Amino acid sequence: MIRFENVHKTYKSGSDALRGVSFKINDGDFVFVIGKSGSGKSTLIKLITREEKPSDGYVLMDRFPISKMQSALVPVLRRHIGMIFQDFRLIESKTVFENVAFAGEIIGMPPKKLSQMVEIVLGVVDLRHKAQAMPLELSGGEQQRVAIARAMVNDPKLIVADEPTGNLDPQTSESIMALLEEINRNGTTVVICTHDSNLVDRMKKRVIEIEDGLIIRDELASGYCGHREAKSNVEEGEKK
Ligand code: ADP
Ligand code: MG
Repeated sequence: MIRFENVHKTYKSGSDALRGVSFKINDGDFVFVIGKSGSGKSTLIKLITREEKPSDGYVLMDRFPISKMQSALVPVLRRHIGMIFQDFRLIESKTVFENVAFAGEIIGMPPKKLSQMVEIVLGVVDLRHKAQAMPLELSGGEQQRVAIARAMVNDPKLIVADEPTGNLDPQTSESIMALLEEINRNGTTVVICTHDSNLVDRMKKRVIEIEDGLIIRDELASGYCGHREAKSNVEEGEKK
């Protein structure tokens, strides 16, 4: 579904955010992108959503080079991508229902179908009872669930999340990840940038680790530190 081919990204400031990154994500995958602050995780996400273009290399979505796509076509690409952010990015003056519906209005979904979809996705995130609440009346975890519902309302093939649990406590973070996992089980491809080592360790998904703009590890069913390090930790423990 997504392919990066030797992608470089140098910002105008001269900052080399990505320095030759290649990987493939298949339909239905669940992938964590991890790495220290400043390693290039958000840049990688922004190249998928076409908020940024590579300085060199290709980004392909379903074999289509989105990195070369005309700007006029970007909204078409975005219809197929649900986006989730650390700071939720809800519209404070709209109700929960209106926030979720807005994503469908933008793409011109017929009103009747849209309100059915909003009901469905609010059910998935277990917030039907809060449909008429305002975002600021909700907890952080609830606000992020609204954002997940909004990301799902257009039935995207792909959900990308940039530090979705960055502002949440550990227990709430766990429930947010469980929800994303459930959405993935139903066939949606999910790509999540995160710092949350406990969650990454617990979920045992594919992990792509970046350091200074390069992929230093890409492992299936892995954890925050990887198989090799995790194994040597066990061996260390056994020696003691
Ligand atoms: P991460 O999400 O892993 O913290 P980023 O992708 O945000 O990393 O940033 C990677 C590098 O690119 C950093 O050095 C950062 O300062 C730089 N960078 C990110 N966005 C911009 C931008 N819009 N303009 C200039 N430099 C940027
Ligand atoms: Mg970031």
